[in-house]
Amino acid sequence: MLQSVDVGERPLASYRGTAPDDTLDELATLAAEFAGARVLHLNATPYGGGVSELLRSMVPLLNDLGVVADWKVIRGEEPFFDITKSIHNGLQGGERPLSREERDLYERTAAENAALLDEDYDFVFVHDPQPAAMLTHRGTGPDRWVWRCHIDTSQPNPGVWAYLREFLVDYDAAVFTMEEFTPPDMPVERVEIVPPAIDPLSPKNRPLDEASVNEILTWIGINPGVPLVTQVSRFDPWKDPLGVIDAYRLAREEIDGPIQLALVGSMALDDPEGWRIHDEIMSEAKPDPLIHVFTNLTGVGNTEVNAFQRLSDVVVQKSIREGFGLVVSEALWKGTPVVAGNAGGIPLQMADGAGGELVDGVDECARAIAAMLRDPDGAEELGRRGRERVREHFLLPRLLLNELSLMLDVLRARPLAFREAPEAAERDPVCGMAIERPDGALSFEHGGREHRFCSQECRRRFVDAPDRFAATHPGSAPP
Ligand code: UDP
Repeated sequence: MLQSVDVGERPLASYRGTAPDDTLDELATLAAEFAGARVLHLNATPYGGGVSELLRSMVPLLNDLGVVADWKVIRGEEPFFDITKSIHNGLQGGERPLSREERDLYERTAAENAALLDEDYDFVFVHDPQPAAMLTHRGTGPDRWVWRCHIDTSQPNPGVWAYLREFLVDYDAAVFTMEEFTPPDMPVERVEIVPPAIDPLSPKNRPLDEASVNEILTWIGINPGVPLVTQVSRFDPWKDPLGVIDAYRLAREEIDGPIQLALVGSMALDDPEGWRIHDEIMSEAKPDPLIHVFTNLTGVGNTEVNAFQRLSDVVVQKSIREGFGLVVSEALWKGTPVVAGNAGGIPLQMADGAGGELVDGVDECARAIAAMLRDPDGAEELGRRGRERVREHFLLPRLLLNELSLMLDVLRARPLAFREAPEAAERDPVCGMAIERPDGALSFEHGGREHRFCSQECRRRFVDAPDRFAATHPGSAPP
């Protein structure tokens, strides 16, 4: 069995007043099409990086909308994640080719994970390259598979892309963040462009008062009285943390008085490069008492990131390649201006000068940081416009709406069998498998209906949380 990630509960209604009303109304209408549908989100890590950030918020909302949504992560040893990081880097234009042995291990791990996927779903969303080859090994069936690419694939290494492409052929749809990221020879006909979004109600983005911000950051060693420049990101060469240090040092020369820099980086389970980059940063930053380096393993979690993004005078995201860069919207949502690399999905978030300045290279980055520090009123206005842009385009309900629309589109080609003929397709409400020969010992009455199961394990899971599975599941037997 693949490992499931526990998520909380969150009603869509709690977004009223924060996200646009029309988006919320449309979502509720569209969700009715999917009541009882089973959706799996599959990725490589339960923490660290943008995908896990998105899924932690999105899966509870899907459940609130009446979909039975799960989040599972694939298994793999470190050598497998070294290979998938090489594929990730290759898709972003990295030069290193994959050896025969690496390809074998990638495919072997995909086959092992496909064998571990023992539940049935109507939709499987596969995030990024790590689990992408599982469909080839599982084989196509009644379930619909969508490949969700979060990477900047606008200039991929041709060999790496040609290799991955073969595993995508049988997908029902693919989703990219930007049109420019769609490779011209994409083997999937249905391709949607859907930019990611942030959750305004998560611990990372919810309101935090100034006194708490100061207290939280003082506690970990930041002086709230000294101007602060911060970059929050995985320790990854594409995020150019060493370039941030260089830009900060140049900006410091242009400003009277001290400025401090914080590099806040998370280590993700599926990103073995992180510690190497961390060590490079430490040797560059160590002699400088005004440069602080924090990780999720040294006590900087969501609330601390929230506080950093609020206290900072400028947030930097000096990416060279970037799928989207949730951190940009996170900072803008807090009204903090951003200096960011003109890469991938970042300009989408800062279009028409909203939110800050796009830069190429260390010198431009340094100049933009110094200019914002010298002009706090102008910086505040940039932040205010950035927040408005995020409210309009980059909050979670909009992302959910786009994904449900895509699912609807996929259903036009392949309708849900249990919707078409519920009586002919009775399903276990927990694992989704068809119940062919009902067994009285494997049933349970709840909410005036009899629900039937394929196994005692599914019955037990149902009895533990009946409302999660039963409320809308049309596959259960009517009274
Ligand atoms: N993040 C975090 N702690 C850190 C560094 C990053 O929680 O120390 C989060 C960050 O707030 C954002 C996500 O990790 O939500 C990174 O997503 P992004 O899209 O910016 O980049 P990715 O890591 O997916 O390339």
